[in-house]
Amino acid sequence: MDFQLSPRQTELIDAARDIARRKLLPLTADHSVEGVRRLRRAMAEHGLLGLDIGEEHGGAGLPLLDTLLIIQTLQEEAPELGALAHRSSTGAIGAIRHHGTEAQKNRFLTGVTKGELGVAIGITEPEAGSAATAMTTRAEIDGDHVVLNGRKQFVSFVQHTEHTVVYCRFGRSGKARDIGAVIVPHDAPGFSRSAGTLNMADELQFELFFDDCRVPRDLVLLDGNAFGKLISVYNAERLGSIARMLGNATFAYRFALDYAGQRRQFNRPISDFQGIQWMLADMRVRLDAATLLVWRAAANADAGAGTGLPRRDETSIAKLFVAEAAKRICDDAIQIAGANGYMKDYPLARRYAETRGGSIYGGTLQIHRNMLASEILGREISQWKRADAPAS
Ligand SMILES: Cc1cc2nc3c(=O)[nH]c(=O)nc-3n(C[C@H](O)[C@H](O)[C@H](O)COP(=O)(O)OP(=O)(O)OC[C@H]3O[C@@H](n4cnc5c(N)ncnc54)[C@H](O)[C@@H]3O)c2cc1C
Repeated sequence: MDFQLSPRQTELIDAARDIARRKLLPLTADHSVEGVRRLRRAMAEHGLLGLDIGEEHGGAGLPLLDTLLIIQTLQEEAPELGALAHRSSTGAIGAIRHHGTEAQKNRFLTGVTKGELGVAIGITEPEAGSAATAMTTRAEIDGDHVVLNGRKQFVSFVQHTEHTVVYCRFGRSGKARDIGAVIVPHDAPGFSRSAGTLNMADELQFELFFDDCRVPRDLVLLDGNAFGKLISVYNAERLGSIARMLGNATFAYRFALDYAGQRRQFNRPISDFQGIQWMLADMRVRLDAATLLVWRAAANADAGAGTGLPRRDETSIAKLFVAEAAKRICDDAIQIAGANGYMKDYPLARRYAETRGGSIYGGTLQIHRNMLASEILGREISQWKRADAPAS
């Protein structure tokens, strides 16, 4: 067991930080569709997209732990960088990397690493939030096409992507085994989206509508019996989001430390006050514990039987601890910065708001506690009331 990063990992982190500061930060202020595309292309030029995608598809071919270290580093520098690094690596593209056909991999993995395309993920529906397997969006094969009908909601980043991996039902059993996934191009006939709703962090979440939406059949990713497979890959996506929360918490901790040394009250720096010192000490304890849980989940995935995917229990443990710790660290940083910390022209409000979402997306903290309890007790604990419910 080794709790030190290797010299190579430290080099990777330093190089990513250096490129971010010298080349990328000036591009992060433009949140328009064209601005984000420009940033995406610039990150591709510097090898910061597709971190865990194989070199044969233009990626960096990094193991999961190194991928998360870079996502976290870029997130510390700017949330826009962390978002693109995650979305092009551990994000929705992961389902294609693990389960796509060769043709799908050549098209999508290569497109993503070149910064030419992006992929969103559509799981949630109005009546299927935590109960994801209650989804009703249907896919039916029709000759050379697959036809989708249904609706998704709260989908992130749709304005900056060209495709969505849509989880949907292929069969009519009503059970989880019907669920598969289709890669839906946003210009497919019968596809439309809402204008988007702003969340707390000023990011847009979209509704997606599928109205006899016709997609070439070769874009079917998994045609049923795939919920378990999709969720296994989704655990890596969860760790990518968790690395972003850790990046926000690290940023907030460093910001608070610096602020406490600069800000003077009662003719002394506020870091002279024990009330502030203890807050900083607690922030550091939470940050270190959170970091180690993420490293464990990722290192064990890399050391596993070859799938490179994290264990379900270690992912949930990391998620449960990091989400709470990161919220608390961001909150404490705001407290240390006083009214300045609460102002939107200071960076902490956005870091807090973004981190807050992590307790809801990717499985709420309650759902992760349910999943962890299933692991601990060694049996699936169904949340469904009826014996014939989709998950049973
Ligand atoms: C910032 C953000 C980004 C998102 N991005 C995407 C995206 O890109 N794609 C996508 O498909 N979705 C996305 N979502 C949606 C997200 O996955 C859902 O919000 C999440 O699954 C919870 O569903 P819900 O909001 O309907 O809450 P509900 O399922 O209605 O839950 C409401 C409350 O009840 C609790 N609860 C529900 N069931 C149980 C239970 N069995 N035991 C204990 N408590 C329970 C929940 O924990 C929660 O506190 C995003 C959400 C957010 C906030």
